[in-house]
Amino acid sequence: MHCPFCSAEDTKVIDSRLVTGGDQVRRRRECLTCGDRFTTFEVAELVMPRIIKRDGSREPFNEDKLRAGLQRALEKRPVSVEAIEAAINQVKHALRSQGDREVSARQLGERVMEVLRGLDAVAYVRFASVYRDFQDVSEFQQEIERLARDPDTGQPADRG
Ligand SMILES: [Zn+2]
Repeated sequence: MHCPFCSAEDTKVIDSRLVTGGDQVRRRRECLTCGDRFTTFEVAELVMPRIIKRDGSREPFNEDKLRAGLQRALEKRPVSVEAIEAAINQVKHALRSQGDREVSARQLGERVMEVLRGLDAVAYVRFASVYRDFQDVSEFQQEIERLARDPDTGQPADRG
């Protein structure tokens, strides 16, 4: 690959090792022209299923859209950026391990709700209210009552 410093074409790998438990390969490279060194990470590209929208049309899975949805639900909530990224990875992992080439928007929404429920109860309720579009108010009400009764399952304990 090209050197990011001088754009020379020839760079050589001087070190290569597995990181993050073997999910990534980290490579140190050296430019043969300017001698500068840089690092690359290699990960397996796993194809995400396509999303079947409510009107039956298909669209590619859009991670930015998912992130925006989560951020909207988590606005002003005490949840770190890292936790949001972990949640995104959880959703992606769930979709991939399902093994289907196409997944309905509804299934995607359910996955997101599962993840949010474990992350932040308020965000979960926000997302569910938008996602379910108040079509099923009684079920939604039950969910809120369940969360109020048993908050431990909704939100991880706050440890200082
Ligand atoms: Zn260079």
